[in-house]
Amino acid sequence: MNLQEIYSENQKTILSFEVFPPDTEIESLYGELAKLKKYSPALISLTYGAAGKNKEFSTGILTQLKDRMNFNVMPHFTCICNSKATVEKNLAIIEKLGVENILALRGDIPEDKTLCNYDFRYANELIEFIKHKTNLSIASAGYPEGHIESPDLKTDIENLKRKVDAGASVIYTQLFFDNNKFFSYVEKVRKAGINIPVIPGIMPVLSVKQVNKMTGLARISIPDKMKKNFEKYKNSPEDIKKFGTEYGTCQCAELLDNKVKGLHFFTLNKARAASEILDNLKEKL
Ligand code: FAD
Repeated sequence: MNLQEIYSENQKTILSFEVFPPDTEIESLYGELAKLKKYSPALISLTYGAAGKNKEFSTGILTQLKDRMNFNVMPHFTCICNSKATVEKNLAIIEKLGVENILALRGDIPEDKTLCNYDFRYANELIEFIKHKTNLSIASAGYPEGHIESPDLKTDIENLKRKVDAGASVIYTQLFFDNNKFFSYVEKVRKAGINIPVIPGIMPVLSVKQVNKMTGLARISIPDKMKKNFEKYKNSPEDIKKFGTEYGTCQCAELLDNKVKGLHFFTLNKARAASEILDNLKEKL
């Protein structure tokens, strides 16, 4: 099923889980995903490369998830340090696997820019290329608090519009902890003439270190309530996790009350936190 078909379903909340290809412990990833199967995710998205360190596609994982575990998998793909020829080669690999959807990204600019090839400067150029060369259905990334390189949110949304005009069908957002940032973003996105689904990215809190790492890399605010609880439970990792589940549950409940079309969980390859949140939300899903 492609992205348009998935998100045109009106009756239920569309769930998707994001995972990354682990360096080791691949069986553990499959075990964690098996636990998430009962939530009937419409998509499992698999990240690709990081900070310009592009790799070959994780075809083994994609095949396992798609053909043996029967998930609808959506590989991510970044263009920043890839030549046109490499991009084309990878797209052919994806299509040959029978995958229907792709999350098309620019990727982060590596510190050593000399490693970089600039056949594609921005994600909209990659999206245009994918649209032209393949039948894949394309998702793109959005940033409720603005992308870190962007001078302001308005400019970032203008650039988001380029991705939609190039052929993106769905927007998955960067994680955020303050729903008001998301609601206000969606309002601005709609005013900019973007009418495709905007799916909130949810990062369950597992530890203070993890939150600080994620928010340090991007423009993401930490609400006062969260800061206070981090301070309160600073010596108790279990209490932080408990607070994380409560916070994530309230955050998702409010998003569902405001009729989001789906929830996209950044699972960090662990089923527990997303499962606990979803179990708490049974009535609303
Ligand atoms: P773009 O949309 O190209 O935007 C990058 C910057 O350039 C923005 O500031 C934008 O405002 C500006 N811009 C865009 N187009 C133009 C234009 N035409 N002219 C001028 N300025 C422009 N990274 C990975 O490496 N692997 C992953 O698997 C991965 N998965 C992700 C999943 C999600 C849901 C999200 C939100 C992010 C993910 N990222 C991943 C991170 C992403 O690669 C970085 O945030 C990257 O810095 C930007 O990628 P983009 O596709 O949003 O870029």
